[in-house]
Amino acid sequence: MKDQNQLALLASQLKGELFYTSETKDQTMLLAYSTDASVYQEKPLAVAIPVDIDDIKKLIDFAQQHRITIIPRTAGTSLAGQVVGHGIIMDISRYFNGIIELNVEEQWVRVQPGVIRDDLNNYLKPFGLMFGPETSTASRAMIGGMIGNNSSGLHSIVWGDTRHNLISAQVLLDDCSEATFEKLDEASYFNKLLLPGREGDIYRNINKLLIDPGHLSAIEAGYPKRSITRRNTGYALDILSDRSEPFNMCNLLAGSEGTLAIVTEAKLKLMPLPPQELGLLCVHFADMVECMHGNVIALEHRPEASELVDKYIMDFTVGHPTYQYNRFFIDGDPQALLIVEFRGHTAAETEAKAMALKADLVSRGLGYAYPYITGIEKTNLVWDVRKAGLGLIRNLPGDSQPVNLIEDCAVSPEDLPAYVA
Ligand SMILES: Cc1cc2nc3c(=O)[nH]c(=O)nc-3n(C[C@H](O)[C@H](O)[C@H](O)COP(=O)(O)OP(=O)(O)OC[C@H]3O[C@@H](n4cnc5c(N)ncnc54)[C@H](O)[C@@H]3O)c2cc1C
Repeated sequence: MKDQNQLALLASQLKGELFYTSETKDQTMLLAYSTDASVYQEKPLAVAIPVDIDDIKKLIDFAQQHRITIIPRTAGTSLAGQVVGHGIIMDISRYFNGIIELNVEEQWVRVQPGVIRDDLNNYLKPFGLMFGPETSTASRAMIGGMIGNNSSGLHSIVWGDTRHNLISAQVLLDDCSEATFEKLDEASYFNKLLLPGREGDIYRNINKLLIDPGHLSAIEAGYPKRSITRRNTGYALDILSDRSEPFNMCNLLAGSEGTLAIVTEAKLKLMPLPPQELGLLCVHFADMVECMHGNVIALEHRPEASELVDKYIMDFTVGHPTYQYNRFFIDGDPQALLIVEFRGHTAAETEAKAMALKADLVSRGLGYAYPYITGIEKTNLVWDVRKAGLGLIRNLPGDSQPVNLIEDCAVSPEDLPAYVA
């Protein structure tokens, strides 16, 4: 679809902007939207900034007619080329950024997809609530992109991923029809199968897939272990096929990277703010595989987070203008650090949990140093080493920058020692 006249006609029908011409302003936009935070680059046919749902529908309709792709984009911080492509990049961050409704009692919020995760939590803080899923990019990442990527971060073992916290979503399907994806009891599920049109087709097709024993066993065999809570390995058919929970198409939507529907609104589950007394047990290991064994023990102590920083990342901080000051807690030259966060209502409660883990590790001969760090300033310095890791690597100049090949592989903690070895 290269006809500039057709794009000009589309532009004239939109309330928002469409960048597609050879003028410098448009070409600058096309270049700016030719990449995300990944190594991939591709110049799109056009960049659209829709103002409302009507604009999005016109864009979907145009893409359907001309058989081109539509790529919804929020902050564009994806690491695997999710918002890179040759079709129309549809930036919904500018006009879809409202917080629509908060229900404090029932602990949920309705938002548009362009709301930034940290802005949402700043809004929720006075109510004693927060949206749990986080990313290292939480100051920019937006809810639409978090749903697309099923984002989660440091505290995912307790605060969950975006899928776990997505109650329902308003979406636009590829025929411009609107649908609500939400939890369905059995009767509502069967009613969906009887719906005419696109939404009904989707339920019928999914149902056909999930009642076929051949497909079910392929899903069972091909997906990561169900015990792994944080897994992002394509369409979550394994979760949809789990009939112990009510069916919710949101489970498929989360992690579908903008390929199934355009989210125009999301209802998110909130949680009370976590206890504020936090402490970090920073376990030092002389060996990476030993660290993986230590992680299995750490998880038995139900921490809020357990994260690895390896020597490779630590070495980037040596002499670094900013991060050299974050090394204050590092003892010697460990091959790996496990940063284990505990929280409690009092400092003593938190420390007791950390010391129980330390005693357990010492008794098993795992680790050689166990500094315990408290106080928000110091713990932030420690966490910053972990959070900065990826950015530090990605700032390496030229060919020395490693290229991400496999994103989000999911390995169960008890399998990690063998996997890493
Ligand atoms: C240094 C660094 C660290 C990172 N750390 C983490 C981390 O800890 N955890 C993590 O999960 N990710 C991490 N990421 C990846 C990324 O920042 C997050 O996944 C983030 O949530 C993506 O949000 P975004 O607004 O940038 O989305 P985008 O990149 O704009 O989009 C992400 C996906 O969502 C789709 N999408 C966007 N809006 C919609 C919509 N309205 N409807 C349907 N689909 C939509 C897009 O098409 C795309 O497939 C990191 C990235 C960087 C650069």
